[in-house]
Amino acid sequence: MRRFLSEAARIRALYRLSRRCEICPRKCGAERLAGKTGFCKALKFPEISSHNLHFGEEPPISGTRGSGTIFLTHCNLRCDFCQNYPISHMGHGRPATVKRLAEMMLSLQERGAHNINFVTPTHYTAQVAHAIVLARGKGLVIPIVYNTSGYERIETLRLLEGLVDIYMPDIKFARRETAKRYARAPDYFEVARAAVREMHRQVGDLMLDGEGIAIKGLLVRHLVLPGHAEETREVLKFIAREISPRTYLSLMSQYFPAFKATGDPVLGRRLHREEYETAKRHLRSLHLDFGWIQEIN
Ligand code: SF4
Repeated sequence: MRRFLSEAARIRALYRLSRRCEICPRKCGAERLAGKTGFCKALKFPEISSHNLHFGEEPPISGTRGSGTIFLTHCNLRCDFCQNYPISHMGHGRPATVKRLAEMMLSLQERGAHNINFVTPTHYTAQVAHAIVLARGKGLVIPIVYNTSGYERIETLRLLEGLVDIYMPDIKFARRETAKRYARAPDYFEVARAAVREMHRQVGDLMLDGEGIAIKGLLVRHLVLPGHAEETREVLKFIAREISPRTYLSLMSQYFPAFKATGDPVLGRRLHREEYETAKRHLRSLHLDFGWIQEIN
């Protein structure tokens, strides 16, 4: 039987995991609280690139009043083609205390946000969990969205149970060689599959309110990559067969070669329309029809 820890005990456990950092599957062992950095480059205090209302997320997340998006600086996956590379790779952002992070959440709620959407929170899980507890103590009631690359440790996710309402993971790659080449994480698919199973165990399929706004559950994103149709098929098959055919899936077509993908022999071009059509056919053949398809403009 699973033993539930108090919120304070879970926050302490998360800070312990980041002391010689084992927060994420890279398990660098970096002494972050003592000023050392590991693969992600994150230190003790969360660094924030921006906090604002965002209207470009999936409809159940952005709704009509916007998602209260907090972009965290650095990343534990660091894909070569990241469209947010100034934040994830180059470290654009400013350090904030946990108290300040909680204040940002409360101010976004005051501005009408449907939810608080932490973008790339993995390496700051301890500080984010701590801020959620502080903000809830001061009146935060809107859902918390955990918007992640999917490269997560189960042990860390278990400590978030009850603090996160909506998990919004990417599943990016299915093949070891692709994940190794573009993110130096050959175990990515194996890790992400276990992580998404745990997320679904905690929150279930996506639940919407009467106005179509997400209140709880799982929303999976998959960015279709040029020249990787087979990997898209494997990702969709996993979601339909091993998570739930009712999974809300966002099939994204907006890939463009950013940052280190410029000039890459495979990822150095945009997606062709027929590649996206193939991905949609896979999606339909698996009866994964609760979701959102972003057409190429
Ligand atoms: S969170 Fe960062 S420092 Fe910690 S294990 Fe992951 S990559 Fe390494």
